[in-house]
Amino acid sequence: MTLRLTNTLTRRTEVFQPLVPGEVSIYCCGVTVYDLCHLGHARSYIVWDVLRRYLIWQQYRVTFVQNFTDIDDKILRRAAAEGRSMEEVSESNIQAFREDMKALNILPPDQSPRATQCLDGIRSMIAELEAAGAAYSADGDVYFAVMGRPDYGKLSGRSLSEQQEGASGRLHSDEESRKRHPFDFALWKGVKPGEPSFPSPWGQGRPGWHIECSAMVRQELGTTIDIHLGGSDLIFPHHENEIAQSEAANGEPLARYWLHNGMVNVDGEKMSKSLGNFTTIRALLASGISAMTLRLFVLQAHYRKPLDFSRDALDAAATGWQGLNEALGLGLSTTFTAALGWANVAASAQPAPGHDVGLEPSREAFVGALDDDLNTSAALAVLFDLARPLRALARRLERGSEASGEDRALQGRWQLLTELSGVLGLELELSSSSPSETSAGPDPAQIQALISERLAARQEKRYPDADAIRDRLRSDGIELIDRPDGSTEWIHRPQSGGPPRG
Ligand SMILES: [Zn+2]
Repeated sequence: MTLRLTNTLTRRTEVFQPLVPGEVSIYCCGVTVYDLCHLGHARSYIVWDVLRRYLIWQQYRVTFVQNFTDIDDKILRRAAAEGRSMEEVSESNIQAFREDMKALNILPPDQSPRATQCLDGIRSMIAELEAAGAAYSADGDVYFAVMGRPDYGKLSGRSLSEQQEGASGRLHSDEESRKRHPFDFALWKGVKPGEPSFPSPWGQGRPGWHIECSAMVRQELGTTIDIHLGGSDLIFPHHENEIAQSEAANGEPLARYWLHNGMVNVDGEKMSKSLGNFTTIRALLASGISAMTLRLFVLQAHYRKPLDFSRDALDAAATGWQGLNEALGLGLSTTFTAALGWANVAASAQPAPGHDVGLEPSREAFVGALDDDLNTSAALAVLFDLARPLRALARRLERGSEASGEDRALQGRWQLLTELSGVLGLELELSSSSPSETSAGPDPAQIQALISERLAARQEKRYPDADAIRDRLRSDGIELIDRPDGSTEWIHRPQSGGPPRG
């Protein structure tokens, strides 16, 4: 495998080699939980989800850690405005975050540390920095001394002298006046009236933002990790400061590869909460944009480039996804698999026995695309090529054509499409007429009972009985979808008999 990734630290595209062969440690900066997530977060976490899925698919043991910042001025302001506690605001937004990520089919992190739960690690790292002369306390605050780090600025390409010039003439707050250098930053902030605080050797207070990531990386993954992820808006100062803290405390490099995703633009402006032009993930999904459409939209652009958001672009992505979805449904719809003689395809979810050498170029093109600094748009092109004959077949079968021997041989193609789509986190989406929405439809409990009966029949190898149940449901307009995990879902098609359209 020759995965190449663009490393912000070296400004080069480099061959990826993990520190320990076969294992990859990844830290991804998470959200400050004061509000719902917007499309910018969706973009970031979808592309890193693809990186993670790709490494797992390549047989790496991946450990993925992503934090929650649950102490912050913005959370405190939100709590005051809503008359809630900091914990209540954090907790509800953490729950919402998890729901949003699940809706987008983003794998949950292996560990999700929260700042309030890592205070011991944070305090001990600050104490180490102070003992090493890399930090100093002033009036209950503790600051990191950037002048002690000659390589400060190596990630962002800024130099300390430039920064000093840039800072002259700035208005000085209380905090600024306590600093020895304008770019020193708070590791610990002394308590302010009415704010939650925690004990420390420097008095009551709370940690600064940057230190939590340094402490969590060390706690969860060790002193040097393979890959550190985040949005390009975090390069300076956040990631620069993470490097300064961790490397001053540990005497070792923090991360070997620094990857940054581009921003999402709306009308040429960066989409972020502070600009107010954000569209929340749940608002987008509620507006009828499917999760897989959103994934495809995000993956059509290279992760490092800006992503231009518009309704037209989303509509185009929806059309693209419809085609892929139609092809993915071919091997899962019981109507089609019966017509094609593809029994038990879904149950195995493994590549078909008898490797189809004709498909090797597609597999290689897909791997080559993702190896090339995660060129997801080229990887998608491979999926579209694989899907084309499958879509055509689905349409022919839908019109009532008999399946030919050549059609039956497309099973390996469908399996490869399903496998590679899964690497991008793209999975069959049932149509919008989900069971819960078809209130006028058949009785769901009765259908579930028949599905259970069919499952039992299949387990007892009474296949004619199982098929009879399937056919009976189909004549009532109920289409069964056998999922690879062995579960069966259903959709209701009032016009009766028509297999699923994407
Ligand atoms: Zn961070």
